[in-house]
Amino acid sequence: MVTGASSGIGAAIARELGLAGANVSVNYSGHPEGASQVVQEITASGGRALAFKADVSQPSEVQAMFLAARDAFGTLDILVNNAGVQRDAPFLEMTLEQWNRVLEINLTGAFLCAQEAARKFVRRGICPERSCVAGKIIFVSSVHEVIPWAGHVNYAASKGGLMLLMKSIAQELGPLRIRVNSIAPGAIKTPINRPAWETPEAEAKLLGLVPVKRVGEAQDIAKAAVWLASEDASYVHGVTLFVDGGMTLYPAFALGG
Ligand code: NAD
Repeated sequence: MVTGASSGIGAAIARELGLAGANVSVNYSGHPEGASQVVQEITASGGRALAFKADVSQPSEVQAMFLAARDAFGTLDILVNNAGVQRDAPFLEMTLEQWNRVLEINLTGAFLCAQEAARKFVRRGICPERSCVAGKIIFVSSVHEVIPWAGHVNYAASKGGLMLLMKSIAQELGPLRIRVNSIAPGAIKTPINRPAWETPEAEAKLLGLVPVKRVGEAQDIAKAAVWLASEDASYVHGVTLFVDGGMTLYPAFALGG
């Protein structure tokens, strides 16, 4: 199950999981055409996928989606909590609605889906033919789980919250044989940050923050997600994997400081 999979990073993760042999539940909230495109692409490459509509911030919709996905595919092994939004504003002008909506989707939505998945993993237990654990949860966080971000305090607070949500869940669910981790993307070309890369001037400015001098692609994150979900990563638990071209290396200090 990949949330927010009708575009950007979620769509790439869904496609890549499909190529790796997973049956993929493609969650979407507002873009059915994007979700059906992803389903078609997975199906065309020989995989199985279905689209499920749910606003991840709504408990009843989340519950209904997990039930429908279980009915369709029989079970659940991997949750990728990817859905996320930005509602940017200077702190002095940020409305409560902007604050609440970002927290509701990025943090509460991730909580609701993780809880629903973990309950299913615990109820079913380990299927040794598929994995040495009962299930895997991956949060798509952000470099802003550690980098403060003026003008985006709702977003940074949601991602900082995700970091300790992930680590606390990992501590609690490890003994139940559920593996929990995060991926923190840096600057990735997707609809969420289009103004930051769509003109040459914007892209040049962005590259000042990226030591490897390349804006990331959704595929960079998707490859990391497939590895993190695989048995090759079976001893990786409770960590954030930064896939950011070095954005968290304080690039401004490269020239002295
Ligand atoms: P995106 O806008 O393409 O993807 C976000 C997805 O979340 C969309 O498909 C959207 O429909 C979905 N979504 C929004 N509200 C939802 C809701 N209530 N219920 C279900 N789905 C909902 O942008 P993206 O860059 O692919 O973002 C994916 C994740 O990656 C987000 O969590 C984002 O914070 C994170 N991220 C992105 C970048 C980047 O540079 N693009 C960097 C760091 C982290």
